[in-house]
Amino acid sequence: MSQQRRDELQARLAAVRARIDRACAESGRSPAEVALVVVTKFFPASDVRLLAALGVRHVGENRHQEAVEKAAECADLGLDWHYIGALQSNKAAAVAGYAAVVQSVDRAKLLNGLSRGAEEHGRVLDCLVQVSLDPPGASGRSGAAIGDVPALVERVLETPNLRLRGVMGVAPLGGDPRQAFARLREVASDVRRTAPEATWISAGMSGDLEDAIGQGATHLRIGSAVLGPRPVVK
Ligand SMILES: *Cc1c(COP(=O)(O)O)cnc(C)c1O
Repeated sequence: MSQQRRDELQARLAAVRARIDRACAESGRSPAEVALVVVTKFFPASDVRLLAALGVRHVGENRHQEAVEKAAECADLGLDWHYIGALQSNKAAAVAGYAAVVQSVDRAKLLNGLSRGAEEHGRVLDCLVQVSLDPPGASGRSGAAIGDVPALVERVLETPNLRLRGVMGVAPLGGDPRQAFARLREVASDVRRTAPEATWISAGMSGDLEDAIGQGATHLRIGSAVLGPRPVVK
């Protein structure tokens, strides 16, 4: 394994942790309340291994095929894999085979597959409802419309082998992340009225983690700030 890559990841990780500490101090929160999920999509299993040695416990992936292979290669590391990407319903059961958390539950059609996969692996799968923070009518981005969240929450709660932990959101491209995350925080608080144990708020990426922490995020999904720019996909 490359010593140089290790040093680079260590330095970037330290810089991200410093940003988290600073943002927590500014909003009177403890960094212990904020879990760092390092998004390793497009980067090799060797990087995941280096990150684990540097103390990373949670990794995020957004494509099933890539995630299933990487999780198998890294099975000895005892990491929690978070599935954060768009999910096809015919892949849902398979994702439950390696993911500890599925953050991108955006429609009821996924629930049977997730539940079946969790049951096959003899465990309960943590789920977040992904909420769309895009302006109404925006196309092509994922997440349940805010108005559809209560019904989806009900469905998750009544599905065996799934445990609703909270909500996830991505700030809209070009929008104000602080405003978007404030909205997500309101949605999260509505969800907790029916599901008091659903306390997680996954918000914040490399460019907007400070805004997310300011709006109560409990989980950050950080890719490029730790791993560097993603390789270009053609
Ligand atoms: C890729 C990705 C991230 C990480 O993005 P960065 O800007 O590289 O930190 C976070 N969340 C989701 C849903 C992603 O797909």
